[in-house]
Formats: sequence, C-alpha cells, structure tokens
Amino acid sequence: MDKKTYNELIDNLIRYSEAYYKNNVSLVSDEQFDMMLKEAEKIEKEHPEWLRSDSPTLTPGSDLSVSSSSNSHGRPMLSLENTYNREDVSKWYSSLEEIVGPNPEVVVEYKYDGNSAAIRFEHGKVTKSLTRGNGLIGEDITSNVQTMSDIKLVKSIFTGEARGELIMSKAEFNRINVDGAYANARNLAAGTIKLKDPKEFMTRELWFYAYWLENSKNRKHSDDLDQLKALGFRVGKYYLCHSVDELMNAIESIEKEKKDLPVEIDGAVMKLNNKDYWDELGNTAKFPRWAKAYKYHQQVEETEVLSIDYQVGRSGKVTPVANLKPVLLDGSTVTRATLNNADFLKQIDVRVGDTVYVQKAAAIIPQIIGVNLNRRKEDLKPALFPHDCPECKTTLIKLDGKVDMFCPNPSCPSRVIEKLSYYTHTLEIDGFGEEIIERFHFLHYLNSIIDIYHLKDHREDLINLDRLGEKSIDKLLANIEKSKSKPGEVLLAALGIKGIGLKMAKIIMRKYPRIEDLMEAKASDLSALDGIGDIKALDVVNELESEETKALIAALKKEGVNTTSTVQVIASDTELSGKSFCITGALTMPRKEYEELIEKAGGKNVSSVTSKTDYLVTNDTTSGSSKNKKARELGKTIIDEKELRRMLNLD
Ligand code: AMP
Ligand code: ZN
Repeated sequence: MDKKTYNELIDNLIRYSEAYYKNNVSLVSDEQFDMMLKEAEKIEKEHPEWLRSDSPTLTPGSDLSVSSSSNSHGRPMLSLENTYNREDVSKWYSSLEEIVGPNPEVVVEYKYDGNSAAIRFEHGKVTKSLTRGNGLIGEDITSNVQTMSDIKLVKSIFTGEARGELIMSKAEFNRINVDGAYANARNLAAGTIKLKDPKEFMTRELWFYAYWLENSKNRKHSDDLDQLKALGFRVGKYYLCHSVDELMNAIESIEKEKKDLPVEIDGAVMKLNNKDYWDELGNTAKFPRWAKAYKYHQQVEETEVLSIDYQVGRSGKVTPVANLKPVLLDGSTVTRATLNNADFLKQIDVRVGDTVYVQKAAAIIPQIIGVNLNRRKEDLKPALFPHDCPECKTTLIKLDGKVDMFCPNPSCPSRVIEKLSYYTHTLEIDGFGEEIIERFHFLHYLNSIIDIYHLKDHREDLINLDRLGEKSIDKLLANIEKSKSKPGEVLLAALGIKGIGLKMAKIIMRKYPRIEDLMEAKASDLSALDGIGDIKALDVVNELESEETKALIAALKKEGVNTTSTVQVIASDTELSGKSFCITGALTMPRKEYEELIEKAGGKNVSSVTSKTDYLVTNDTTSGSSKNKKARELGKTIIDEKELRRMLNLD
C-alpha cells in the first residue's frame, strides 16, 4: 500500500459520499462503500501520518446545501456503524458484555430508509426542526415540518426534542412517482422535505417515525420509545433481545416483515437498552458504540455494458438505457438497466464496454449503480448524450430546473406511439399492444388518439395486412367500440396529462363529473382540491386549455365516447351513509384520503371508539390496542383496509 493509493481511495470515498448525501445518487452499493471505508480506516491506523483531515472516516456524510439556513444541534446527530452478518453482531454483543455483564438487553428497531431530523416542541407545537446535516449543523426545515399531519398529533403536554426519521410511505411514493422520475422513496422524501414552497410541500405526505427522546429521564431506551408513543408520535414496533440468537431471530423476522411494511426499511437497528452504560461505552467520531445497524444484503452483480439506447417517452423525456450482457439478479435474468438521465450518465461516466454494478432498486427496475473502474478497458469513449432526438432528429431541450432532456416535437413517432399505447392500455382495449400501434402508425392509420375511432373506416385495408386477418381486426374494432362506455375518469387518466393518474382523475371528477365541466375550471378551483398543489393545478389547466385537447375532447364526444364520471354514483351508495368510522394505525394510502372518501360516500369520521361508532378500521384487527379493546367491548365491527376499500368501491 502506498500513499497514492490511499489518496485515491479517500478521493473516491468523498466523491461517493457527496453524491449520496447531496445528490441522492448511489455510485456504489452501501456494502461496498463500507468495505472501502474499513480499508481506509485500516490504512490510517497503519500510517497515521497519511491521515487526511477530509477523510470520510472522520465525519458522517453531510446533506447540507449552501443556499439554506442552518442551525446547530444541541447534541450531535451521529450515524450508525453497519454490520452485515452474525459474526459482526456477536463481536459487538461481546463488547457490550464486557462492560455491562452477561446477557444485556438490546432493543431491535426498524432501520427506516428515510432522512433523519430533530424536532423541538413547546406545548406540542413545533418551534424548530433541523435535518441531520453534517451531524453538528442541520438545515432548517421548520416551516414544512409544522404542517405535517403526523406532527399535529403530538400532544400539547410535550415540551422537548424528538429525533427520528422523515419518510415517505411506499403508497405515497407510488402516487407521486407515476412517471418513474425518482429512483426511490428516500430520494423523493429528501427532495420533499427541502421544498421551499410549503403549499407544494403540503400536497405530499411525509411521516415521522420517532426513535429518540432528547434529555429524557428514563433509564431504558424502550421506555423512551413507549413515552414517545404515548405523546402521540408514530413509533415503530421493536423487539427486546438478550442473546446473539435472539438478536439474529429479531433481525430475520424484521427482514421477513420488510415487504409488507408501509415504508421502506434497509435494515435493523440494535441499541443497548440500559442507557446508564451509554456514556461509558461512548462514541467514535462518527458512531455511538452502544448501537449498531444491521444492513440487509442487497444483491449486486457485475456485468458488461453492450450498448446504450436513448428512449423517448410519452412526454418527450429521453431516458438512457443500457443493454447488458445477461446476468442473474434476484432470480431473474437482467439484460437492460436504466441510467436515469443525462446528469446521472455524466456523473458515473459509464462507457460502452465497461463492467458495471447492477442491483434491483426496490426490486422493480434494475439499476446501474456504478462502474468497476479496475476493469475498465483502454480506449473506451465516454457515452455522449445525443444532441438530437434519436427518433425524429429534433434538437433536444432541457426544461427549466429539470435534469432531463426532452424531445419537444409533439409528432415525434416515439412520443406518439407511447401516448397511444398509454391510452389503449389505460382504457384496457384488448388486442391493442405496442406492436400493433407501431405498425398502424408507420402505415399512417394512427397519428393521434382520435384516429383509433376512425380505424373502422379502414377495415378493408387492415384485414389484408400480414399476420392480422379479418377475425383479429373485427375483434379489435369491437373492443374499441366497447371501450367507449368506460367511466369518464378512466378516459381522463388515459389522456396522459402530467400528474393525472386514475386516482387523481377520480379526485378531480368528484368535483367535475363531466370532462366538459372540467375544461371550464380555473387553476385556483383545482388547487383547492386535496392532493393538487398550485403548480400541478396550473399544469392541468394549461393542458386542458390547449387547442389540441379541446379539439380532441370535442372529437371524442362526437364519436360517442363517454366523458361522464361514475364517481358520483359511489357517493349515493347507501352502505356507508350515516355510518361512523374510526381509522387507526398505518394503512397503505394516506388516512386523510380515506376519510375524505368516507365523507363523500355519506359516512362520518370519528377519532375515538364510542357507542356511536359503527366501524373500527385497522390493519391489525387482532391487536391489543386500546381502540381495538374498546371496539370489542362495545361489540363494534372491526374491519381491515381491504374491507374498507371494498365498501368504497376502490378495488
Ligand atoms: P446511515 O444512513 O447508514 O448513516 O445510518 C444511520 C442513520 O440511520 C441515522 O442517521 C438515522 O437517520 C437512520 N435510522 C433509521 N432508523 C433508525 C433507528 N431506528 N434508530 C436510529 N437511527 C435510525
Ligand atoms: Zn423526437
């Protein structure tokens, strides 16, 4: 080992750490980062004279950005050292036993994959909130945190500081991330918490899981957790363990629970329960010694990049996609992986011929997380993001404040085909796959949505096309006819207006039951609806006001396509009318949304179970919580989310 290699290692670690904390990009897997960090620590021990003051071994990563106001934390917010296997856990447990004596009690909690924050309260009201920042100084996020519904539930008796994790639920992430612009919920939560416009912030739901009570008098950490819960905070489940076996069991149980939890977790956190020993055990510069994280293994494989495609989507957004030498990942063969956008491509500097690391992000789309530079062959050229659209040759543009490049040409064949497939897919017109759309488009039968309804005029030509024939064309034409009577909200969603998926279409059409009425709406009317911020409302109105949309809606009506919603029908449904509901615990969709739907359907919401309550809604129907007990005592019906969704006609 020489000094040059050490310096290179530190430079890389700094680059990775900055990309992770400042730009929310992982250039290497967590596991690999930790291995490199351990290597650096080892070298620094052997050669203290080489130690650099900016070495990431000395400080936790920082998410501070220059532009924001910041503030000091009372007590530093430390990071946690990761463990990956039984051996690591056992070593740590022995180190506790040395100080505490045999079989110390350890609390095992979820390791929430969000962003940590400290929140100070006076009489239940937020007076200050900071992100972890660099551990000593955090970014001020007070005005956003004050509006969070989780925080409003904190009881007025509380004066003090709670620390925990700001996190976005999987359901909320999927609601916002309809077009796949965000890599994961943690990134989106990080961006959300720093939004400068509180109104926009309020259109997204963040949760706060508390796991730390500052200046508490309790001697046990588990008492702090219980107290936080009693104060009205959201607190996750925890396990109490007294041996390495019990620790490993808890860690395994949590791994099994992972996929059914409403939020993402990336591991478990172990903390010595008896706080009397915390000071004695002390901290390193970065980590407390009385706690450890256990990270679940994320499969990462290496493979070669064969070529890079640039795909043009419905909105014109161009996404670089790598074609890979087939590799087995989590049980399936992966041949393609997304490279997100032009900035990411530049940042990781991936080249055709490179060996890259791939992993499955939240187990959906495979992602390239970095390049194995040790295996880079000579003479590989940097990948150049195209200047022109690969489909129609129009010069690509960058929209204000966005990292993506767009093809601005509305008749770009790729955009037209994507738009048409989105439309036929949303309206569930059977037999209308991308392949047929592509073919019809190139034969000029399909240039826009309305052409779908004119296909019948070309029946004679179509049945003579290769591989199609009379039977399949007639079936397709019949399916098109049938789709005309789909509910208006499905049609609205199918138009592919930015930000209007089916859920949003339902919310909008509850107020505007006909698309024609909606065309008259002003941005201010729309932004008054829940879940629609000022910016989205403007986007929607702009799109609806365009001549193109107006002409399309008129033409669709002329063809006999239904533009009226069925959402109103739900409202007169009698199953819920006059009934009162008490919702408790975590559901997969924000509680507020359910409450609104219940109200719209003629029901009432109450916050506690009394003799007047009809239903207790909870996903933990057998739990021993006070609400469950009360409902059972009073003989009330306890239903789960699934049943509620059925009653609301949501599934
Ligand atoms: P890392 O992000 O790898 O540095 O891990 C440390 C971070 O884990 C902390 O700063 C917290 O943001 C986060 N964390 C998540 N869940 C917990 C938990 N239950 N207890 C403590 N820290 C947690
Ligand atoms: Zn184009």
